[in-house]
Amino acid sequence: MPIILDGKKVAKEIAERLKKEIKARGAKPALIIVSIAPTHESKSYIGRKKRFGAQIGARVEIVEFKKESKAEEIGARIRQFNADSSIHGIIVQLPLPPSLDRAFIIESVNPLKDVDGLTAENLKLLSEGTPRFIPATTKGILALLDSYHVDIKGQKVVIVGRSSLVGKPTALSLLNRDATVTICHRQTPDLMKETRAADVLITAAGHAGLIGREHVREGQVVVDVGINSVSGGGLAEEMSGRKIVGDVRFDEVSKIVSAISPAPGGVGPMTVASLFENLWEAYKTQS
Ligand code: ADP
Repeated sequence: MPIILDGKKVAKEIAERLKKEIKARGAKPALIIVSIAPTHESKSYIGRKKRFGAQIGARVEIVEFKKESKAEEIGARIRQFNADSSIHGIIVQLPLPPSLDRAFIIESVNPLKDVDGLTAENLKLLSEGTPRFIPATTKGILALLDSYHVDIKGQKVVIVGRSSLVGKPTALSLLNRDATVTICHRQTPDLMKETRAADVLITAAGHAGLIGREHVREGQVVVDVGINSVSGGGLAEEMSGRKIVGDVRFDEVSKIVSAISPAPGGVGPMTVASLFENLWEAYKTQS
């Protein structure tokens, strides 16, 4: 059996540490989540962030906007939070409705409060190897690997997926950690050849079951970032509900590799914990 990279367990340890530190300082770190016409998935992520915040003693406030809201109006509200010293972190829950200018809205966040690390200033710092806030999913992946003492330096890391939210910042962070990084995407001609060459394989394609036994070999570490909602199977699809699966066919791959993160229960909880680590850092630099 491989080592299971148990994100739920590590996230719980992070929550306990944060709770202690926050209490010891008598602090009240506050996070604003800007939510614009949220999808079903977005609502569930927001709920998880709210619960994690409550658990550690942080204040989490959701500010909702309708689909018809204008970017200027949202930007103006964000700037009010920038100026409010009782607010330490501001995030914009993605994805946004396609009619809205994502760059404009994200750039409205003061980089010192940008605990998702997505403003141009913070991405520049990340690309220069001196990050202020590492984007939460990337930070979660790193913390999960660190927690299981997976050494990144000099390793060949292959990332499947080149999104600006996950693939690209993860590649930059791993380069900063002296890995040799390959990024694969939809146009990669021979995905199997690339993934089999990895020491550490990270999948963030958002494609249920993309990676199977044919993509891996013995000795690899596999981190599955995929969160895909699929039909739960069974007789009547309408009645069976939905379930969450990763990009990796866990049953097949876990028989071959040396370590693997489950999905759900791997990177997901680490992402939430990492966001609050960033919030705590933001609080400490602002206070
Ligand atoms: P996320 O938000 O999970 O990071 P996105 O939907 O923004 O995901 O991006 C998905 C990424 O995964 C894209 O870079 C895309 O090229 C890659 N991808 C999707 N399907 C495949 C596939 N079948 N093979 C290789 N890469 C894929």
